[in-house]
Amino acid sequence: MKAETLIAGGGLAGLSCARELHRASRPYLLVEKEKEPGGLCRTVFDKGFTYDYTGHFLHFQNDRMKKWVLQLVGNRLKTRRRHAVIYSQGTYTEYPYQENNAGLPSGAVRENVLGYLEAALHRRFSGMDPSRAADFKTWCLQAFGPGLSRRFMFPYNEKLWKFPLSKLTTHWMGRFVPSPRVLEVLRGAFTRQSSASGYNATFLYPDQGGISILPRAIAQGLPGLWRGVGLKKLDLARRKVLLTSGLEIGFDRLVSSLPLPQLVALTSGLPTALARSARNLKATSIYNINLGLKGRQPVPYSWVYFPEKEFGFHRAGSVSACVPSVAPRGHASVYVEFSYRGTRPDGRALGRHAVQKLKQLGWIKGESQVVSRVDLNLPGAYVVYDSQRDETVAALLDHFRKKGVDSVGRYGRWEYGSMESAMKQGIEAAHQILGSKSFPG
Ligand SMILES: Cc1cc2nc3c(=O)[nH]c(=O)nc-3n(C[C@H](O)[C@H](O)[C@H](O)COP(=O)(O)OP(=O)(O)OC[C@H]3O[C@@H](n4cnc5c(N)ncnc54)[C@H](O)[C@@H]3O)c2cc1C
Repeated sequence: MKAETLIAGGGLAGLSCARELHRASRPYLLVEKEKEPGGLCRTVFDKGFTYDYTGHFLHFQNDRMKKWVLQLVGNRLKTRRRHAVIYSQGTYTEYPYQENNAGLPSGAVRENVLGYLEAALHRRFSGMDPSRAADFKTWCLQAFGPGLSRRFMFPYNEKLWKFPLSKLTTHWMGRFVPSPRVLEVLRGAFTRQSSASGYNATFLYPDQGGISILPRAIAQGLPGLWRGVGLKKLDLARRKVLLTSGLEIGFDRLVSSLPLPQLVALTSGLPTALARSARNLKATSIYNINLGLKGRQPVPYSWVYFPEKEFGFHRAGSVSACVPSVAPRGHASVYVEFSYRGTRPDGRALGRHAVQKLKQLGWIKGESQVVSRVDLNLPGAYVVYDSQRDETVAALLDHFRKKGVDSVGRYGRWEYGSMESAMKQGIEAAHQILGSKSFPG
């Protein structure tokens, strides 16, 4: 058997590629190892609660991408407003921490803001440019000064990445780390206000069905979608794959959204040094605990950052705070995210810690309030941008491309990408195959 285009992986990237090829009436075959496509954008339903693989909120940078999605999903996506905060020194302050110090103890506000101003003045008169900083730790100090770095940027990022910040580059940050201007930091020191900073101040999310309505809409009516069958081996020289079902398939082009290290591991015929270099690729995993609670909405926050060590999790939130329909009437939902490297942690211990801390914070009154619990493990969730990542990824992608393999998506490109970028890369891969002008430009 031979496929003109074989698509491996049916997350947003793979499905978007299939959708565009289908639109152009071009043949393809998509193989997805899970029974349900959607990848990270699947949703779990339990006792009337709707849980995503941690908060998954849709936002767009590109108007054509937004149009592409809305044509498929229709009016089911509603605009929501983020209410993100930081919990530190016993109080909640508005997100982002570097812009909103009002509400913190006076000593912290002084140290944070004066340190920030000193760093800003130093940049102004020395001509120093933080974007040239060799590592994330140095960048934080140059961009924000010592107070904001020590109280938030360092502890939060150490907890999330589980990797030395002095070995992280700054290439992942882009729009994900807001850099407020001097006036905004000054205003935020005096006035407590909900901030619209950052790329996700508003986002789209449905009333029903969770984020999975997005991959489901893209997959709707697509032929050539094989579920529950995965790629097992890839022979680059012969342009053939072996599937987990035992079937061998030839292809003219392969669009893969498998994690890049996994694609390398199942490929034969790669130059040894290149194959070995993939061992340099690192990621941090997430263990996500979702709780369904009886009673009123406990907090008004969509998500909360926890920089302090006393909390084992780096982030917790409540999707029902901004989308009440994810919980049955008279109920609410909260989620907690722990990051880890290496072996999967003990969910029971993490669950005990989460409940204890949520009680301490007043989010939960007692254990009897918890009527539903769903634990979701996200191995390799966040790609670690260390000094080897860029070069290794570029060499691998280039080699695969020359052999007719386009590696796309958050893990195919081995990057810190959004749902929008995964879909865009899938669409672009299809347009490459179609020989049409790259969409959406
Ligand atoms: C904690 C977290 C929170 C996030 N929150 C947001 C958010 O709020 N907003 C946002 O825009 N983005 C968010 N993202 C990013 C978003 O989830 C991803 O960008 C997007 O879902 C990636 O889609 P993908 O198709 O590239 O990869 P995936 O979803 O990983 O899809 C890859 C697919 O390949 C399949 N596969 C793997 N191996 C094989 C094999 N051997 N054979 C066949 N199939 C295989 C998998 O089962 C999977 O379905 C978040 C990500 C994380 C980790």
